[in-house]
Amino acid sequence: MQFLGDYLEKVKAKKLYRQTIVYNPVSATHVQENGQVYLLLASNNYLGLTHDPVVQQAAIEAVRLYGTGSGGARLTTGTHPLFDELEQELANFKDTQAAIVFNTGYMANVGVISALAGAEDVIFSDELNHASIIDGCRLSRARVVVYRHSDMEQLQELLKATSCRGKRLIVTDGVFSMDGDIAPLDKIVALAEQYEAIVMVDDAHATGVIGPGGHGTAAYFGVQDKVQVQLGTLSKALGAEGGFVAGSQELIEYIRNKARSFIFSTALAPATIAAGLAALRQLRAQPALVTRLQENAQLVRQLLEYAQMPVVLDGVAPIIPVIVGDADKAVKLTAELKQQGIIISAIRPPTVPVGTSRLRLTVTASHDRKELAAAVNTIVATVKQSEMIVR
Ligand code: PMP
Repeated sequence: MQFLGDYLEKVKAKKLYRQTIVYNPVSATHVQENGQVYLLLASNNYLGLTHDPVVQQAAIEAVRLYGTGSGGARLTTGTHPLFDELEQELANFKDTQAAIVFNTGYMANVGVISALAGAEDVIFSDELNHASIIDGCRLSRARVVVYRHSDMEQLQELLKATSCRGKRLIVTDGVFSMDGDIAPLDKIVALAEQYEAIVMVDDAHATGVIGPGGHGTAAYFGVQDKVQVQLGTLSKALGAEGGFVAGSQELIEYIRNKARSFIFSTALAPATIAAGLAALRQLRAQPALVTRLQENAQLVRQLLEYAQMPVVLDGVAPIIPVIVGDADKAVKLTAELKQQGIIISAIRPPTVPVGTSRLRLTVTASHDRKELAAAVNTIVATVKQSEMIVR
């Protein structure tokens, strides 16, 4: 098994070796490590619902009522009563006929794409789509045509130029996970109509985040009725775990019967589904949560821009990348910021292209605005100081 060590040495030589780090979350916005508390600007817990007492209580009650594990796959004995409630509530939230819950967003993408497309079909996929979309495309055995990021002219050319015996599927992230920008879904649906393609949007970072009431990218553009497949996760803004797909009754029945990652895996535990359901109800009852999230993101973005930091794009999403270029520099900066009590992720190749390594800040509705402003000051000072050292 020489290849194991060889691979690890190669990764270490490229300074891309990865490890898991244990953090002890003490709130939605702070973690503790070795007795020290850190401000977390690196979580997808966009609405802070992991620590909402109502959500926590729902999970505790579900354990008491139904036990800790589901004990079976969804099509055998694993579908406990909370699944029905959650799937109906998700369909209602997305304004679709039906919805179906998978164990993770990753499994939803892999399962749905490989269920919808096969060897005769063509998938048109944005070059910055999430890894789980890429893996779903590979698994489908369809021909995959990758278009430049959000480049609608190229997408049109490719749709025009690519002949296809079977179906055409256009798939895109709604909010892109590394840059925080929003896919031009209004234009995508127009092209899809023209070239008879199915549209699928991955709203992992958009559900509970953009659109009126956090309803996602299709709602943001007002094109819900033109997007056939809306995918989301419970693992980010909804503070739990699990992926879901919302669409027509027929689509959901088809997925239930065909998506292998749905069929061949044990169903999520009652506590997880209860938490996701309670979080969704909290989101619907308190749309101000989404407004606060957007205001906090806007504050950080504006402060960084004011300090002339290389922030990627303006937008409304709570993902705010500060491009520093070199992978090593990104890692060093996050280490320095950690010493100053702030945890931010360094995103490096292969997750992003070489030369675009970045500090990826994520903001939540639970962050305190004064604390955010102070953190931005620290980040700006640290980045500027490192630039002086480099020069
Ligand atoms: N899609 C996108 C765009 C994502 O960013 C992620 C998670 N990082 C996923 C899907 C997978 O979701 P989950 O974490 O629920 O598996």
